[in-house]
Amino acid sequence: MNKEAFRKISYGLYLVSSVQDGKFNGQIANSMFQVTSEPSTIAVSINKENLTHSYIKASRVFSVSILSEEAPMTFIGLFGFKSGRDVDKFKNVQYRVGKTGAPIVLDNAVAYLEVKLIQELECGSHTIFVGEVVDYDNLGNDPPMTYAYYHTVRKGKSPKTAPSYQAEEPKAVVAKAASYVCSICGYVYDPATGEPEHGAPAGTPFEDLPADWTCPVCGADKSHFEREA
Ligand code: FE
Repeated sequence: MNKEAFRKISYGLYLVSSVQDGKFNGQIANSMFQVTSEPSTIAVSINKENLTHSYIKASRVFSVSILSEEAPMTFIGLFGFKSGRDVDKFKNVQYRVGKTGAPIVLDNAVAYLEVKLIQELECGSHTIFVGEVVDYDNLGNDPPMTYAYYHTVRKGKSPKTAPSYQAEEPKAVVAKAASYVCSICGYVYDPATGEPEHGAPAGTPFEDLPADWTCPVCGADKSHFEREA
């Protein structure tokens, strides 16, 4: 059996938000799909450890922002690799409160769906929440981000709590300028390509990055990076 089979499943990239006791939280989810059209229902798979999971359980409402291909990695890092238990993810993002009371994130979204929970399916580490879409709108004409685009073009990673997470295969020893991996989010800094959008032209060794340089995905500082074997 070849694990590559799982990598060939297609997904999008979504921001699922919910509310509990007036507090908002949201997280990145790749496993979301429409179930029926009349009435419009969708399903999303959420890890039981995530704060958004408890918010959805409590309020029985959530929203889904469909992210643009242009969504910055720092934005995906904030919602995908940080916990609402540690940071207020809504502090610096544009959102509005929807009909259900769930927040709807508008930044980097090309459309949104607002959902009332109708069914839950327990699935080991995750719960599949199925809900009726009670409001929705189109927010822009950029292409929506696919998971494949996120991984291959944007070089994004999956957190361990994602349904599609796969542990990295052990790598053979590679003789080239060392890459460094972020121990928080799994982002890999490759000196060959650098990170031109974040002040690191191609060819900049990790050691030469300024001391205040931070992970473009999750914002961790250089001390959280480990040399790749
Ligand atoms: Fe990181």
